[in-house]
Amino acid sequence: MDLTFTPEQLAFRDELRAWLAEHGPAGSLGEEPDDEDESWEWRREWQRTLSEGGWAGVHWPKEVGGRGASLTETAIFFEELGRSGSPLPADVLGILLAGPTLMSWGDDAQQERLLPTILSADETWCQGFSEPDAGSDFAAVKTRAVKADPDDPDSDWLITGQKVWTSGAQYAKWCMLVARTGDGRGGQEPGAKKHQGLTYFVLDMEQEEVDVRPLVQITGSPEFNELFLTDARVPQSMVVGGVGNGWKVALTTLMNERAGLAFFLQVRLRQALDRLVAVAQENGSSEDPVISDRLADLHLRTEALRLMAWKGLTAIEQYGQPGPEGSLTKWLWSETNQLLVQLAVDVVGAEALTADSRWGYELLRARGNSIEGGTTEIQKTIIAERVLGLPRAS
Ligand SMILES: Cc1cc2nc3c(=O)[nH]c(=O)nc-3n(C[C@H](O)[C@H](O)[C@H](O)COP(=O)(O)OP(=O)(O)OC[C@H]3O[C@@H](n4cnc5c(N)ncnc54)[C@H](O)[C@@H]3O)c2cc1C
Repeated sequence: MDLTFTPEQLAFRDELRAWLAEHGPAGSLGEEPDDEDESWEWRREWQRTLSEGGWAGVHWPKEVGGRGASLTETAIFFEELGRSGSPLPADVLGILLAGPTLMSWGDDAQQERLLPTILSADETWCQGFSEPDAGSDFAAVKTRAVKADPDDPDSDWLITGQKVWTSGAQYAKWCMLVARTGDGRGGQEPGAKKHQGLTYFVLDMEQEEVDVRPLVQITGSPEFNELFLTDARVPQSMVVGGVGNGWKVALTTLMNERAGLAFFLQVRLRQALDRLVAVAQENGSSEDPVISDRLADLHLRTEALRLMAWKGLTAIEQYGQPGPEGSLTKWLWSETNQLLVQLAVDVVGAEALTADSRWGYELLRARGNSIEGGTTEIQKTIIAERVLGLPRAS
């Protein structure tokens, strides 16, 4: 891939830089609040500002409210967003996961109903994949969907089961939910494999049959939740990609998750590293050869991640959607971020271990990086089998 920008791409970057300088949160919205609910509203407001400026869905086609930006421009967008110190919009799950999945698999009516409110943040999304016994082994999903009237193919689905670690469910209007539909009427298909008989639904969270219970993380924030579903109702029109096709549709969501965040995360990593280097220079710890060696290692990793994120674009250009290489970026990013926050403790000192310090929060929050979006062990298996083409273990 040629990393030299064309005059058009430079013009795009300059237009964005000027817009961010004028409208960026530091200018118009002030500092991000610490409180979870206030922070959510703050990031939602930021998404509205982005949307009004036409920047919320740069990679989305113009017909559905996006800017129709090329892949390179999209990469520039995320780099500039990170560089300007702007946060991600509130509904990352809607913009990066649900939207692209609906554009790949949704029918016209679903796209018309669901896409416009994503960019404006009027309706936000959560991802109901994980269950108490189905995380890495996602195909083991037990949540079950049956037809309200087994003899009427147009009747609603009734969904019962439990989801867990559902980020942002407390604010979401819609949930990308995968449930077991078996033979299409809710029955078991004898001899079917685990990943068969799954269906991808768009669940309306605003119903009594959906009980959202917050889970407090190690950081003290209730970022995610448990969902208890008891005959939660989903109309047939909200099945995405056809009954029994949920595995394939969900893979589209997961690949978009890994690829979509790559750019933003590597820029955030660079910012955190620059901050840490500045502290190390200020307090003299950069003179310590062990510390400077660890900082240099982080610099190399961060630069490698930047180049890998750009390389990932070629896969999207070739195949029209992200490839399994996103797993490599996800693995390297989570490992590097965890190394960075651990080094911060040695550089910053005891203050980084206090409850209300920013580095303290980052240290605790980073523990989840190698779990969320698929654990490191699972990424390694994907890389071994689908990138390197090694034989399967069993
Ligand atoms: C901050 C955060 C936010 C999240 N947000 C969401 C969300 O919004 N929606 C959602 O659906 N989920 C979400 N998750 C859940 C996340 O996707 C799962 O935690 C993850 O997929 C792992 O599943 P699990 O927790 O059930 O662990 P398990 O799958 O039980 O894994 C336990 C351990 O066993 C290892 N292991 C399991 N299987 C294998 C194997 N085949 N080979 C080698 N090792 C293996 C794992 O790597 C791990 O170390 C979130 C998680 C976190 C931490």
